[in-house]
Amino acid sequence: MKKFDPAVAIQDLNQIGEYHGVNPSVTDSATFAFPKAQTMTDTFHGETEGYFLYSRHWNPSNKFLADALAAMEDTEAAWVTGSGMAAITCAILQICSAGDHIVSSMTTYGGTFAFINNYLKKFKIEATFVNITDLDAVKKAMRPNTKMIYTETMTNPLLQISNLPELAKIAHANNAKLVCDNTFTPMMVTPAHFGVDVVIYSMTKFINGKNDCVAGAICSTAEFINSLTNVNDGTAMLLGPVLAPQLSVSILKNLHTLHIRMMQHSKNAMYLAKRFKEIGLKCNYPGLPEFKDHELLKSMMNEAYGFGGMISIDMGTADKAAKIMEKMQEEGVGFLAVSLGYFKTLFSNSGKSTSSEVPEDIQKEMGMSEGLIRFSVGLDMDIEKTFETIKKCIESIK
Ligand SMILES: *Cc1c(COP(=O)(O)O)cnc(C)c1O
Repeated sequence: MKKFDPAVAIQDLNQIGEYHGVNPSVTDSATFAFPKAQTMTDTFHGETEGYFLYSRHWNPSNKFLADALAAMEDTEAAWVTGSGMAAITCAILQICSAGDHIVSSMTTYGGTFAFINNYLKKFKIEATFVNITDLDAVKKAMRPNTKMIYTETMTNPLLQISNLPELAKIAHANNAKLVCDNTFTPMMVTPAHFGVDVVIYSMTKFINGKNDCVAGAICSTAEFINSLTNVNDGTAMLLGPVLAPQLSVSILKNLHTLHIRMMQHSKNAMYLAKRFKEIGLKCNYPGLPEFKDHELLKSMMNEAYGFGGMISIDMGTADKAAKIMEKMQEEGVGFLAVSLGYFKTLFSNSGKSTSSEVPEDIQKEMGMSEGLIRFSVGLDMDIEKTFETIKKCIESIK
């Protein structure tokens, strides 16, 4: 059998617009007419293929993007949301009810941590946060009412790697689902191949790659996606997080260059990581052989896409990190901004920004230094020049 490649899977779909447009058109209709009253009734009960009911439920433009994402993830189906957080919250609330329990990675996106740790209390859904790389700790945290293990393939901001096959075993032995946010590693890792039940994306990041919108996606079995869009109890239907069709068509066009972008992000990040190390910086990059879970990531990777575009370096103190970031922005290295997966380099101090929802004691426990600068490396053509500029910026700050 030929090896699976996510980019080829998207290309093999051969999607074409309804009027043979090379790009699927924007279907900007909120509602759809039915030829027969009975067809409308059947569609309401989820029983007709090819008919659309109402755009909060499904829209043809969203379907094109969802189909492409399902192909990329090698899952049966997908659904697209108005943000990554919408994808996360809808997936979790679909799976968990009052009295249930979640085992979650301690290091996740800050919003995810806040939702699971704070917001879910309202629904009496409990959570235990663990070091997700410690499989014994994960096993110990499982309870009879654990419905889900929640993690990220590559965690934010420490870039820890989740052992997806082992986590899937633990989850499934407990009749729980493994839910995994693959935002940092699209194309690089295909989580469904390792037993992940629900794959989550913030498409705001690498997938769209243009920083012109927020969007998210949930990829899973047809059964799970249908449960989300169920008119009676589906979170996607009832909480109303749907993505606008105008954005779906725009994101779909960007999805078609994702494979090329990921290769360049990875190539540039690998170059910077090696050079950072050479000048003695404390640099964390999954592509470096000494990185703790380098081999684990390699065992799960679609190799053509490299080790990703995320690097973190530890500058010791928040003050020093701040000065270096300001200097780098001044010198045109990129932007002092949160978010990632953009064509320009973005950098931020995680503890003071995207992980500021995580209390300081937990930040310490998960090994996050206050001087950590997280880089999302851009698509720079002359990365050597970028490195020289960064080096000068660091040397200028004492
Ligand atoms: C940004 C991000 C999210 C949240 O996505 P939004 O599109 O901003 O709602 C979730 N998970 C990860 C890993 C992220 O980086």
